[in-house]
Amino acid sequence: MLCQTYKFVRDAVPVGKLSEILEHAQKTPPSFAFDAFIKAHICAACSFRVDGCDYADGLNSPPCGGYRVVEFLKEQGII
Ligand code: SF4
Repeated sequence: MLCQTYKFVRDAVPVGKLSEILEHAQKTPPSFAFDAFIKAHICAACSFRVDGCDYADGLNSPPCGGYRVVEFLKEQGII
């Protein structure tokens, strides 16, 4: 089972740029500016939904770390 953010980032980002992107993404909390996109294109296909994801299920919980990485990529215009 893999988080859908992992699959998405793996396919969208060259391996050599990944550590730099992770470093930047970890420095700031999520803004949720691309929440609709991420929920529709990533959370909806995430394997973790089988057992439930508190964030995607609308419970009072933060999203996974991959969510912030994808959000950062959108903010930077990388994807
Ligand atoms: S927030 Fe939850 S459903 Fe969305 S990608 Fe992360 S683990 Fe998967």
